[in-house]
Amino acid sequence: MKELTHWINGKHVKGTSGRFADVFNPATGEVQAKVPLASKAELDHAASEAAKAQVKWGATNPQRRARVMMEFVRLLNRDMQKLAEVLSSEHGKTVPDAKGDIQRGLEVMEFCIGAPQMLKGEFTDSAGPGIDMYSMRQPVGVAAGITPFNFPAMIPMWKMGPALACGNAFILKPSERDPSVPLMLAELMQEAGLPDGVLQVVNGDKEAVDAILDNPEIGAIGFVGSTPIAEYIYGRGCSNGKRVQCFGGAKNHMIIMPDADMDQAADALVGAGYGAAGERCMAISVAVPVGDATADALIERLIPRIEKLKVGPYTAGNDVDYGPVVTAAAKANILRLVESGVQQGAKLVVDGRNFKLQGYEDGFFVGPHLFDHVTRDMDIYKKEIFGPVLSTVRAKTYEEALAYAMDHEYGNGTAIFTRDGDTARDFANRVNVGMIGINVPIPVPLAYHTFGGWKKSAFGDLNQHGPDAFRFYTRTKTITSRWPSGIKEGASLNFKPMD
Ligand code: NAD
Repeated sequence: MKELTHWINGKHVKGTSGRFADVFNPATGEVQAKVPLASKAELDHAASEAAKAQVKWGATNPQRRARVMMEFVRLLNRDMQKLAEVLSSEHGKTVPDAKGDIQRGLEVMEFCIGAPQMLKGEFTDSAGPGIDMYSMRQPVGVAAGITPFNFPAMIPMWKMGPALACGNAFILKPSERDPSVPLMLAELMQEAGLPDGVLQVVNGDKEAVDAILDNPEIGAIGFVGSTPIAEYIYGRGCSNGKRVQCFGGAKNHMIIMPDADMDQAADALVGAGYGAAGERCMAISVAVPVGDATADALIERLIPRIEKLKVGPYTAGNDVDYGPVVTAAAKANILRLVESGVQQGAKLVVDGRNFKLQGYEDGFFVGPHLFDHVTRDMDIYKKEIFGPVLSTVRAKTYEEALAYAMDHEYGNGTAIFTRDGDTARDFANRVNVGMIGINVPIPVPLAYHTFGGWKKSAFGDLNQHGPDAFRFYTRTKTITSRWPSGIKEGASLNFKPMD
């Protein structure tokens, strides 16, 4: 059995806690590796080594640091195929989708090449007699990232790219479900010229996370995962005086107005609802057609499209639309929620419950499901299913549809499909959700904008990537200096203006 490692001080290091987690191949259900689960002592050691390495890295000029990011981007492109295949083998998503995962991380690394521009401070000449005032952005010191299974390349890069470009050392605690790609990213960072110790990858579970939350040498923590864990990490990290941002779960609504192009809307829903088996925080999981005629026209178009979806292993190449879900437990949870939907009275118009793939009976495959006539008191509406299940909630009016999106506890993303500019504009302005698509189903902002939800989808006051990331991973220091020092004003005990 392959035994994975941690990455400490530029080397693969075996775990010493004696605890391991299984890493599955979700397509076959087989355990393909064991990943070590770090103890508090292992995490603390990685952090103190990172703190030592950070001193020199933080003092390295930002342009040199940016060159490491530039070389890293080249290496990512070189190894794209290899990385995507490893990613697919542990996560289950198709290889083209895995390449998208890597690409969206790569784009943030490209943005980080511009770190010298982002890190420039501010300067006020002659703020008072002989007085200049300037502010600069300094690294936090050691930052940490705790990341989810569903984007094992992209989200680690969203975290480590800006943190490292700002001059921090970084501890990455990736998901224990698919830890190989994060380790490969660390190897590539070393090849790109990152000094040893500046990036540590510590594999683990709650014990390693708690050690991060309590470690006094770690100043900032970026988390992405489910909302209950996000709330826990935010609370404990903040009470320990750290800077913390946590991004949580989602239930993204797509509103379909009667004037929308129905074929376009149906295609969008299939891509956004079932891509990556629905295991995306920006997946559309709720369709809200406005009016029964719209709903009927939409359902009529959705059914044949969904029934045609090809579910299979990543090794089947382009013949597959989506792969298995990540674990047997995830599959069981999805099917349990589907069952609850049926029990609670929703109409299951595409039923994937008996889906079986010949030759892959032990894989974690879930057939596609489509519900109609879902109501807001049902568990399938309230909970994040994180699987290939789309719920249709019929609204009578635009105002009712808007209220559905606004009343839900999650607020990550939402979309509206319409040909009417007034409605689209009104929706974008009023809805209390962080990322909005207008005739775009998965509105993931590009690297130079920021990414983040509202309500129970995010905790903390800054978004991920874009300019916010440079604010999150730096502290501002403001200096007031007087030259020439010879100006003599005499002593004053008053708190006075400088002029
Ligand atoms: P998860 O919350 O189970 O795990 C995320 C991380 O937290 C992992 O590194 C895991 O090891 C750690 N963790 C798990 N349980 C813990 C505990 N009890 N104490 C401390 N740490 C713990 O999430 P997941 O299943 O890996 O990922 C799926 C979730 O992530 C979904 O809810 C999805 O919506 C969300 N997600 C959100 C975004 C976003 O930007 N908002 C992006 C991607 C995924």
